[in-house]
Amino acid sequence: MARSEQLHNRAKKVMPGGVNSPVRFYEPYPFFAVSARGSKLVTADHKTLTDYCMGYGAIFLGHGYPSVIEAARSQMEKGTLYCTPTEKEIKLAEMISKLVPCAEMVRTVNTGSEATMNAIRLARAFTKKKDVIKFDGGYHGAHDYVLVKAGSGAASLPGSEGVLEESAAHTRVVPYNDPSALERAIEKNQDSACVIIEPVLANIGLVLPDKNYLSEVRKVTQQNDVVLIFDEVVTGFRLALGGAGEFFGIKPDLATFAKALGNGFPVGAIAGKKEIMQQLAPAGRVYQASTFAGNPVSVSAAIATLETLVEAKDAVYPQAARACDSIVEGIKEELEDVGGVDCTINSIGSMYQLFFTAEKVRDEASARKADAAIFRKMFDELLKRNVFIPPSQFETCFVSYAHDEEDVDRTVEAYGDAFKKIKGQK
Ligand code: PLP
Repeated sequence: MARSEQLHNRAKKVMPGGVNSPVRFYEPYPFFAVSARGSKLVTADHKTLTDYCMGYGAIFLGHGYPSVIEAARSQMEKGTLYCTPTEKEIKLAEMISKLVPCAEMVRTVNTGSEATMNAIRLARAFTKKKDVIKFDGGYHGAHDYVLVKAGSGAASLPGSEGVLEESAAHTRVVPYNDPSALERAIEKNQDSACVIIEPVLANIGLVLPDKNYLSEVRKVTQQNDVVLIFDEVVTGFRLALGGAGEFFGIKPDLATFAKALGNGFPVGAIAGKKEIMQQLAPAGRVYQASTFAGNPVSVSAAIATLETLVEAKDAVYPQAARACDSIVEGIKEELEDVGGVDCTINSIGSMYQLFFTAEKVRDEASARKADAAIFRKMFDELLKRNVFIPPSQFETCFVSYAHDEEDVDRTVEAYGDAFKKIKGQK
């Protein structure tokens, strides 16, 4: 029996489903990891995999990036938690504020879920309105405000039991890339406090905004005094140094960050307009608190991450995007070679995803038309060839600064072999 299978059997006895987050499970059992470095992940079964899950997008510089690890290590020697302010927290807030166009003020938190939950609370307090508008297939974490027609692991469930119906009733869902649907939803409901949007949907596969779509979203929210929240948990510091806000040239009222901010350390942030952010206690009356928020280890890692991104921006962003483009181009060539496989590929910057459908994928409905069974087969075949992508169609593949040409070549070859296997040619 494989070591991962043994470990999963043991895990199931004490951990629900044998995992600490549902997306990590797939049939019959997930591989267990023991270490990671650069673009590689080593499994409990002694396999070295090229990783395109990269902590679901959290690792942008590569696993174990030296300056980030060193910053955390040297902080750990001075203590791991003070629960009293540190100068490093100011430095991190100043850096985010400088990099992110909308970030007049910043509160540091630990995770993306915490960031979105509190951004929504802030929007409700600011507007004195109750309802949240989100997008079909958009994922913003696993809390009650947003677990309605959500993507990621929640895409395979009709909804979550235990979510208060009263709470879900305040969350309206509209299709992505449809400006008039959003306009109608806002006009019909005068109680809309905020619109929360992943500027690029990354949890229903990868779906890009149509040209001018995000500026339409900005316009209609502004005209109706609805707070616009860019959920940049995936796009923040990855799509560009200033996230999707900078990339698309749109300034939301609030933005939420996590993932790439700490290159693998648990750290997130809510950032935005001063008049909204000032409502947070103790400055204002919106209560948000956390023992671990701004802990010096995560903050040190985040500062080192941002410093590297700033210093090496002319290398990091083009290099990761080039590697991603080469993979996408290579996959297209392999698809052509094998012939007869309907496939659409969406990509932007260092992110890509395949959908087994001939149709363009531009929202949740079109993403769902893709053949998830073929996708799953492709996942298995890639894993056999030591390439690890997220196991679900409703996720995104992430390329990092650590992925080199050899990774790209091997990955394209693995996709090619997987397609042949799928077509029964091998
Ligand atoms: N928002 C987006 C866009 C995400 O992709 C995620 C997680 O995948 C979250 C929020 C939640 O972040 P976390 O898992 O850190 O709570």
